[in-house]
Amino acid sequence: MAQVSLKDVSKIYADGIAAVDKISLGIENREFMVLVGPSGCGKSTTLRMVAGLEEISEGRIYIGDKLVNEVPAKDRDIAMVFQNYALYPHMTVFENMAFGLKLRKYPKQEISKRVIDAAGILGIKALLNRRPKELSGGERQRVAVGRAIVRKPLVFLFDEPLSNLDAKLRVQMRTEIHKLHLRLATTMIYVTHDQTEAMTMGDRIAVMKDGIIQQAADPITIYDSPVNKFVASFIGSPPMNFMLGRIIKKDGKLYFDEGKIIVRIAEEMYKKLNPYAGKEIIMGLRSEDIYDKLFVSSATAENVVKVTCEVVEPLGSEVYLYLNTGKHTFIARVGAHDRPPINQDMDLVFDMSKVHFFDKDTEVTII
Ligand code: ADP
Repeated sequence: MAQVSLKDVSKIYADGIAAVDKISLGIENREFMVLVGPSGCGKSTTLRMVAGLEEISEGRIYIGDKLVNEVPAKDRDIAMVFQNYALYPHMTVFENMAFGLKLRKYPKQEISKRVIDAAGILGIKALLNRRPKELSGGERQRVAVGRAIVRKPLVFLFDEPLSNLDAKLRVQMRTEIHKLHLRLATTMIYVTHDQTEAMTMGDRIAVMKDGIIQQAADPITIYDSPVNKFVASFIGSPPMNFMLGRIIKKDGKLYFDEGKIIVRIAEEMYKKLNPYAGKEIIMGLRSEDIYDKLFVSSATAENVVKVTCEVVEPLGSEVYLYLNTGKHTFIARVGAHDRPPINQDMDLVFDMSKVHFFDKDTEVTII
């Protein structure tokens, strides 16, 4: 069993600033947990504290049932894969992968078996006699993962392992690490700033900002029900659109008035939005929940808005429209063959059953 548990864990560096601020997180046995957030939010520091590479200022970390605060890194039964791979240049791939086992005085035969098994899993058997400089970026990455696998650790830690690879290889390695997790069925903690990696790989995602976990949940919950505007904006590509406006009450009905455009609010949202009548509020809408009216039969005048289409960006499978209300710019994702004329007004439909609302001051989710 290798669950990992962080209880009120902080890291305060010499400058007195909390890089990690009292975070608590439980990672289940065999779970793939992704820590995601912008640069400097404390992801790496958190991972390094789990690894034992960074002292814990406050709180407790458990691996399995064991409190590891005072346990040195080498005795924690974890293996870490770094962004820069940290391979030994003078050693062959075999020697690089075998190194950790040799240090731990494993018998030669056992080392050989483990290295060859791992090389088989990763498809690098043919490279075992090469040195790192004779490998491509993707191959080096595999060796770094291989070096972690041979240890058969309780927990794997990954610190931005794909960020040095080109876009195509990154997507390929993403799938491979995913498959590896299914095959090894080991607890993994994976740090990235890339929301796509987080969404596609994680059983659960912990979204961090300023040393604090904003939300930890499965990817779909994070995407559909973000707890605040930061999470809503960080997860999803293109990011969620936001508009500042006012809730208006007229003849018992609620509307969102953006200044230039007005849309009617769905009745099921009245209960939560009534207290905001007359007040400013932030509305959020994902780009896939906005349609070109030409292709919608069920639109009513109250969810149709007239806006200017400034840029049409065809991506092959879909088209991004860059739109302007006169007060806010936003993006809609429409069908692959939609080509509205640019710098002209067009009618769009907002799917008002999908909108989110955030408190203007606290940015906490209302709906
Ligand atoms: P992330 O991995 O999310 O990019 P880090 O965990 O590396 O963030 O860093 C979190 C914060 O701690 C940042 O503000 C960073 O500048 C600071 N920090 C990281 N390492 C040190 C250090 N050794 N000394 C002082 N501050 C540090």
